[in-house]
Amino acid sequence: MRNVLLAILCITFPMFLFSQNQLIMSENFAIVIHGGAGTILKKNMTDEQEKAYQEKLQEALDSGYTILKDGGSAIDAIEKAIVVMEDSPLFNAGKGAVYTNAGTNELDASIMDGKTLNAGAVSGVRNVKNPIKLARVVIEKSEHVMLSGKGAEDFAKQYKIEMVDSAYFYNEHRLKQLNKIKDSEKIQLDHSDNDDEQGDITELKDSKFGTVGAVALDKHGNLAAATSTGGMTNKKFGRIGDSPIIGAGTYANNATCAVSCTGHGEFFIRNVVAYDVAALMEYKNLSLVDAANYAVNEKLVKLGGDGGLIAIDKDGNIAMPFNTKGMYRAYKKANGESKILIFKN
Ligand code: ASP
Repeated sequence: MRNVLLAILCITFPMFLFSQNQLIMSENFAIVIHGGAGTILKKNMTDEQEKAYQEKLQEALDSGYTILKDGGSAIDAIEKAIVVMEDSPLFNAGKGAVYTNAGTNELDASIMDGKTLNAGAVSGVRNVKNPIKLARVVIEKSEHVMLSGKGAEDFAKQYKIEMVDSAYFYNEHRLKQLNKIKDSEKIQLDHSDNDDEQGDITELKDSKFGTVGAVALDKHGNLAAATSTGGMTNKKFGRIGDSPIIGAGTYANNATCAVSCTGHGEFFIRNVVAYDVAALMEYKNLSLVDAANYAVNEKLVKLGGDGGLIAIDKDGNIAMPFNTKGMYRAYKKANGESKILIFKN
């Protein structure tokens, strides 16, 4: 009799667990990505360039969306989407990273899991092919949150993260961007190397690149956010922007939302923008859209900070505000609704 009871338990308990798991799976999932904000104007872009961006954003979006659709985690989905953009020379992250004043490429990235509030970040790495993969390993294998420079690269080697020679990041347009402002005190968003009206359009056509980010809500109700960048052209003295700083450029919390920022990092750091959106929701009961708009179009504007962000909340609402001329951005929801946008309207 005891054995029969035991056998019944062994068969029914896994079934019970499985059905519980099914019960908590929701069909409400979505992913949002960005490829940077800045002076991005339709009149300065050829049809081919616009198409190239749209196709790459679509590829990144679909790669993350497929993971979510198959019941995968938000953190896996955003990591995948970011890797696609890091491997493209179109964006200021990974392969397309901008140059520092010293003529090097120094990359930053961060990723945060809204379920556990675990986070991983790397800054100032020079030879890591996909900084976002390294940030993910920091979550899993390190007791720290942010690793920098040589230490981060030693850690990368230990965990067999793909390393590349600095020649991998060579990019003529990026060097041109640097040489134009190298002797000045200016650091610049890579989209903003010319003003819209008076700018040299020939140059502008070749200088549309940007920091990348992704946020997602998965079928299990978990949120995650990630950001990856080469920083700002002509940055000096080991400057680190907001992108690898949890709370400034990236933040995720299942209780509120997931946020990834892009723009002039110094302003995002001082305004703790990503966390600010979550805090406005938590403490002030603002909706995601109101919180994101307030952070970008009021608080940042008041301080003079250019940029934007993407955000998603625990109910799958999304926001993509920016105070620049344009922002590469795209989203796809569980019901199939999807958009890829570049310019203001
Ligand atoms: N936020 C990045 C930084 O300041 C730049 C960007 O978003 O394009 O490093």
